Amino acid sequence: KSDLKPIWCPGCGDYSVVQGIYRALAAIGRPPHEIAFISGIGCSSRIPGYTTAYGFNTVHGRALPIAQGIKLANPDLLVLAAGGDGDGFSIGGGHIAHLIRRNIDITYIVMDNQIYGLTKGQLSPTSQKGRTTCTSPHGSLENPVNPLLYVLAYGAGFVAQASPTDLVGMAAIIEEAIRYPGFAFVNIQSPCVTYGEEAQQIKGLKAISETLESLGHDPSDRLAAMNLAQNYGTKLNLGVFYRNPEPAPTYDGLVRERQAQLSQGAPSKERILDLFIKK
Ligand code: SF4
Repeated sequence: KSDLKPIWCPGCGDYSVVQGIYRALAAIGRPPHEIAFISGIGCSSRIPGYTTAYGFNTVHGRALPIAQGIKLANPDLLVLAAGGDGDGFSIGGGHIAHLIRRNIDITYIVMDNQIYGLTKGQLSPTSQKGRTTCTSPHGSLENPVNPLLYVLAYGAGFVAQASPTDLVGMAAIIEEAIRYPGFAFVNIQSPCVTYGEEAQQIKGLKAISETLESLGHDPSDRLAAMNLAQNYGTKLNLGVFYRNPEPAPTYDGLVRERQAQLSQGAPSKERILDLFIKK
């Protein structure tokens, strides 16, 4: 936890999310210099600055490729990426598929509030159809992206949803995502108290929340997870939708193996100098 005080609007859901991240990281116990926390642009993307991990507040939508580069350059780092729904599913929407197919060992936390808060309340990719905002005064004509279904369909090994309505549960889910050996995605319904609708505030979210555990959901069943993910926007299902019981090899691990293989039998530095430079 850094000394920097968050400057989110009083009551913003992101205050709870940062508390959940503190609790998860404290439970994991890695020192700050072994953690890199990357974000894009948006209210929620301020979050790395509120930790003492290495932080990089990058450009809009580019948290994931930068996090990927950091993980490949130094696989020993614990790498987190975070941002909002616009950053992750609009500007940066094309990157998620590639991190999932490579299975880079990164935890990606999206603070999903269905609005662009930092730029004062425009439609985001997860805004519900019919939503009125400053850019859609007569109601949106577009269907929203379903973040859960999106990452499940691409084959993510760990997919969960949490909310500040249950801080203890949210911290436990973030911790589990960080411990998962591969790409892990956590969608957090984090209310925007300034531009969000009534139904998306804590009281509204509590009214539609239901834990996946109470539904008897088996998180090793991807198809069941995809069925439940279709509740997005009407119910708030909290918990782990899918956790691959047999995690696939990670790309960062495979790159490390390949480097070790290629370095066997490779000419020494002295020999290279002899061959190419000294002559
Ligand atoms: Fe939070 Fe919304 Fe304020 Fe941004 S505008 S800090 S998302 S309440």
